[in-house]
Amino acid sequence: MSAPAPSASPPRIAAGAASVPGSGIREIVMLAYGREDVVHLEIGEPDFATPRHVVAAGDLTLATHNRYTPSAGIPALRTAVAGRLHQHYGLNDDPDSVVISQGAVQGLAAVMTVLLEPGDEVLVPDPAWPNYEMQALLLGARPVRYPLRPERSFRPDPLEVASLVTDRTRVLVINSPSNPTGAVLEPGLVRALVEIAVERDLVVIADEVYDQIIFDGVHANAAAMAPESVVSVFSFSKTYAMTGSRVGYLTGPSWLVPTVARVQEPLLSSISAAAQASALAALEGPQDVVGRMVSTYRERRDLVVDRLRSAGLTVEAPAGAFYLMLPLVAGADSRLAALDLVHRGVALAPGTAFGDTARSHLRLSLASSAQQLSTGLDRFLDWYEATSGGNR
Ligand code: PMP
Repeated sequence: MSAPAPSASPPRIAAGAASVPGSGIREIVMLAYGREDVVHLEIGEPDFATPRHVVAAGDLTLATHNRYTPSAGIPALRTAVAGRLHQHYGLNDDPDSVVISQGAVQGLAAVMTVLLEPGDEVLVPDPAWPNYEMQALLLGARPVRYPLRPERSFRPDPLEVASLVTDRTRVLVINSPSNPTGAVLEPGLVRALVEIAVERDLVVIADEVYDQIIFDGVHANAAAMAPESVVSVFSFSKTYAMTGSRVGYLTGPSWLVPTVARVQEPLLSSISAAAQASALAALEGPQDVVGRMVSTYRERRDLVVDRLRSAGLTVEAPAGAFYLMLPLVAGADSRLAALDLVHRGVALAPGTAFGDTARSHLRLSLASSAQQLSTGLDRFLDWYEATSGGNR
């Protein structure tokens, strides 16, 4: 029998998946990939080694219990996480209000999957880490951006956020400390955003993955402000320099969390047993490792801010996370600037990768040594002076 003739057009890709854009950071990463003549300041990944006791706990599990685990996470880890959230933020200490996820990214995706239907709107910061928008688009939902303007120190205006709420809005995403801006929102501002959500029947998804990387001010946990309306999402990735283990967690209201726990089964069955053992060791082990990393990020922040200000640039000193926004001249296209800068020996993430509002900024990651930061800044400032900040 002869094979059926191929049809003229290939089977279709679902519209949501087809609409997911490529990452604008990836373009720079690929251009700079493997180049030793380039200082890499484009990636948001801790440059510290994972603490030894964290690695050892994972190794032991690989050797002894390398099996499936419950889809909401191993009970010991859910209990330890609930204990931490109770201790730090006064949340309830019920392990059933916690779900362990494959990194915060998968926790965010699971919550969006549970909440969003095609056509629903999701309020997303601009600039923001690109994955919120990608996740919403994948589900056929519509991301609507609310601006974090440089002239407001990258803070949202609650009135403007409220004005963007429509009958289709389901979710308000908040991220503090922020990737890419390093801004830490004051508790009063977070509360104002949470209140909009409560009044307009929205769910807040609070991305709090940098909650322990704070230089100035305090971290405001959104879930504590309105436990019935907020899901707070966290990660082990940054706090314990273990991005590769892919462990995160979330906490939220009892009308929502059991469904998130249930959908983890079709989405991933369970996350890595070894990675969860590592995460548990991280939580139960000494916490001074976190303080040491934060002090180092702070020293690097001070070095970079001093250097840029001495060169006459107006920069916001980040109060948390490990990013800093470098301003180009008004109107400059940061994508073109970032492409050009790779050829000058320094890779930075363009603001265009995070939305429109920061299109004339570049994101610098502080997750590199002081030496690399210094060399990267020399190259950036040479370029800046030669091109007047990308305005040739
Ligand atoms: N949220 C933000 C704001 C991030 O910057 C990142 C990682 N870059 C994540 C979530 C995801 O972290 P992970 O999946 O490694 O926990």
